[in-house]
Amino acid sequence: MTKPTLLIIGAGASGLLAARELTSFYEITILEANDRIGGRIFSLSHESEIIEAGAEFVHGNLPITLTLLKEAGIKPVKISGKMFRHEQEKFSAVTEMTDGWDDLLQKMEEVEKDMTMQELLMKSFSSPRYEALRRQVVKYLAGFDLADVARASVQGTLKEWQAEEQDNYRVRGGYQSLINYFHEKLKAEGVRVNTNTAVQKVRWEPGSVTLTTTTGAAFMASKVLVTVPISMLQFGKTSLQFEPKLPFETEIANDIGFGAVIKLVLKFKTPFWQTNAVFILSDEVFPTWWTQLPSKNPLMTGWVGGPAAAALSHLDDEELVTKGLSSLATLYNIDIAELHQQLEWAKVFNWQKTSYVNGGYSYAMIGTRAAQTSFSTPIEDTIFFAGEALYNGGHPGTVEAAFFTALEAAQHFKKNRGEI
Ligand SMILES: Cc1cc2nc3c(=O)[nH]c(=O)nc-3n(C[C@H](O)[C@H](O)[C@H](O)COP(=O)(O)OP(=O)(O)OC[C@H]3O[C@@H](n4cnc5c(N)ncnc54)[C@H](O)[C@@H]3O)c2cc1C
Repeated sequence: MTKPTLLIIGAGASGLLAARELTSFYEITILEANDRIGGRIFSLSHESEIIEAGAEFVHGNLPITLTLLKEAGIKPVKISGKMFRHEQEKFSAVTEMTDGWDDLLQKMEEVEKDMTMQELLMKSFSSPRYEALRRQVVKYLAGFDLADVARASVQGTLKEWQAEEQDNYRVRGGYQSLINYFHEKLKAEGVRVNTNTAVQKVRWEPGSVTLTTTTGAAFMASKVLVTVPISMLQFGKTSLQFEPKLPFETEIANDIGFGAVIKLVLKFKTPFWQTNAVFILSDEVFPTWWTQLPSKNPLMTGWVGGPAAAALSHLDDEELVTKGLSSLATLYNIDIAELHQQLEWAKVFNWQKTSYVNGGYSYAMIGTRAAQTSFSTPIEDTIFFAGEALYNGGHPGTVEAAFFTALEAAQHFKKNRGEI
């Protein structure tokens, strides 16, 4: 019996895993706008190093990611080392959260009608004695969640903070090795992945879709799974038009937060930082840094997220490297000219400028849950959505989140085929 046809838009973690789950039931073609697969997973080899331009860590003992890594025979490497905070010109090891953090979690738990984190801080933590706490929350939301304190939801943030785990891992050989594993499997199953194929229009009726690309090519199938980043459906800059329109306003995509991020990878001749440091937090322009521990490679990764990253996004790579070096020069009290001399090479990943992604990852705002529900509900058994931004669990904005939504979408397809 011939299999029904399915088109998947996007060859990131969610699109590839969904395809892997559905190859037995559908004849699948994947359409990817960029010239490579992996989306926000992008591991590059440079000299003898693997550099992660996008996803780098497995943030905890995350069941789907770790199971898939095991299946692919790829080892996660546990990260060890200390976290340091730089304040008032001094480094100190971070052993506990700022004073008042437990009170904050308590108040967050008590919130019945969702509000923004900023509203909660103003309502319950406005006194001068909480000044350090307020600063910490703003930095943490921006650095980790890429979120704006004025837009981040209390209930969404709480769900994530409560799920946070201590253990972090890197993926040996880079996250891309997992993507390559999927790709090999898919090729063996006859799935075609067409890169440089940007879908512009989705014309549909129940049981049939025709996708038109920016070059005018047309692809037809009985169903489509859309896995583009939510940024591609936001603020009228949508790269995809649906004809007829979806049964809900696509503007609800704007209710899902999508933060900015810039990552810098700097290779120095010799390390000048604490030998046991893994993460370094500060108030500099590039506030967060990490080393390669347990590897002793003299690489430093700089990270700025959220509104501050959005404000720097227009700078060119050279200007961003200078900002990064001057952050490190201040932190380690080294002359910037000397740091320049120490620098062997620099790589800049300004995700706002990456076509068909245009940002980092999602975070929860007040209307996010409702928007996720609309997008996650199959439309006439013909249009389906997946991707990290539709995930409603404790690990938003991650590869795990993308995988979770792919499995969820695959369940819908299987249900509709009567397979489960
Ligand atoms: C800098 C950075 C660091 C990160 N760090 C981590 C980390 O340490 N750990 C972690 O777990 N997660 C991390 N993440 C998040 C993680 O990378 C993502 O959540 C995950 O990879 C998203 O997968 P996805 O399939 O939902 O989307 P994507 O990977 O974005 O895949 C969607 C694909 O759709 C394509 N596309 C878009 N529009 C079209 C179109 N019109 N036609 C065809 N194709 C289209 C895109 O090119 C893209 O390839 C990071 C992300 C970034 C940017």
